[in-house]
Amino acid sequence: MSSHLSLPKYSVGVGDRFAHQAKAQLQACVLAANAGVDVSPVWNKSNREHMIIGSEPSSTRVAADAAVKALGWTKPYFCDADHIGLTTVDRYLPACDFYTIDVADFIGKSADASSVDAFIHRHPELQHKLEIEGIAEPLTLSQDFLRQVANKFLAAVQNAAAIYRKIESAKGRGNFITEVSMDETDSPQTPAELLIILAATADEGIPLETIAPKFNGRFNKGVDYVGDLAKFEEEFAADVAAIAHAVKHYDLPKNLKLSVHSGSDKFSIYEPIHNIILRFNAGVHLKTAGTTWLEELIGLAESGGDGLALAKKIYAQAYDHREELCAPYATVIDIDPAKLPLPEEVARWSSLQYTSALRHDPHSAAYNSSLRQLLHVGFKVAAKMGDRYLHLVEANEAIIARNVTDNLYNRHIAPVFLGVAQQKK
Ligand SMILES: [Zn+2]
Repeated sequence: MSSHLSLPKYSVGVGDRFAHQAKAQLQACVLAANAGVDVSPVWNKSNREHMIIGSEPSSTRVAADAAVKALGWTKPYFCDADHIGLTTVDRYLPACDFYTIDVADFIGKSADASSVDAFIHRHPELQHKLEIEGIAEPLTLSQDFLRQVANKFLAAVQNAAAIYRKIESAKGRGNFITEVSMDETDSPQTPAELLIILAATADEGIPLETIAPKFNGRFNKGVDYVGDLAKFEEEFAADVAAIAHAVKHYDLPKNLKLSVHSGSDKFSIYEPIHNIILRFNAGVHLKTAGTTWLEELIGLAESGGDGLALAKKIYAQAYDHREELCAPYATVIDIDPAKLPLPEEVARWSSLQYTSALRHDPHSAAYNSSLRQLLHVGFKVAAKMGDRYLHLVEANEAIIARNVTDNLYNRHIAPVFLGVAQQKK
């Protein structure tokens, strides 16, 4: 028998679109370990992203294994099949040991009446006011509310169970981590809904280790959180409390924790997250998605010469194709076209002008969030360039690696897991 895999308390999901930065990313976890906090790396790449890049899930595994070997990392690490469903999971089965089961499309689809009735029958404890440790006001639950939530979410949980069982039959129980994601939907789940979803998940026998709800506020790609911070903090704390309650009362793994699909760079929520996980002695999984690709661009621009020229060319092409590049991400980006510099202007920029416009330093006057978001979704341009892009990335490995590690450690890992605020320049 192989040993039972489990996800450590703190973990960070890192994206690496072109599979060249695994070592630089792992180095950020080495820095955290040196600072006294274990943060397990999880390399994630969504099916959507593999389709755009034209890559195979095995490439993520190969890059992760090579990085682990090169740095002598002896602690846990994982490869995440990110946002998979019943029809897309198959090609991830050999390479991945972490599955983010995306059931957002099933929210609101009706489950059959008999399973809704059975669920309600099984859970009298969710039909009256419920005191939860860590939440000031008792949750106002009732049979009507439970039925309403079951009608909204039970089909999604049943779908998660079907996907889970497919993975389990291929990989064997205990040989992979299970996450369920509900973040890519219109409205946030309340803590009461989360508790009910968890009860249903436990009923289905899914050994859930992380769950990604949708939170209040906007989580745009590669830029900071937009929303009411006090409200986020209250909601996040209530979600953590609801999870602790669910773990105590239902058959769920003890290490079950929240997964924050950040869409990267949600700097202003990092301090509240840190404070809450300490207060509740809870874990957290932070997915930072794809800004590693932007650090590659920053490194190229910083290196000058051919690197800077290519970074400018990528901007020019992204600018020309901005409408088609942005369309799939319309709900998660806010670009002000008037703030996008013309490619002719960017063509005259120095390394410093390019990197200061792109680098996510909210305190810098030169930082341009519209340009950053356009380039964030513009990775398709570099993917099309193929080897021309990758050869320059390889030629400038050291300067890029420094940016990748520094970004991941100082802007994400240190604020969330060590409580070290990002330095203000
Ligand atoms: Zn997500």
